[in-house]
Amino acid sequence: MADSTDEDSHRCEQCTAPIGDSNERRVVTSIEDGTAVHRHFCDENCLEKWSQ
Ligand SMILES: [Zn+2]
Repeated sequence: MADSTDEDSHRCEQCTAPIGDSNERRVVTSIEDGTAVHRHFCDENCLEKWSQ
């Protein structure tokens, strides 16, 4: 079982671009089935599109 503790391999949930150490990136945490799920986005624009 791979637990994703690896901070370098995230992709944007909206546009699937790899996310690096940009200051623009956004992380959304939600609880699904009792597990914390982190969703990563390149920036506010992708987060906004995804949440619509
Ligand atoms: Zn994106």
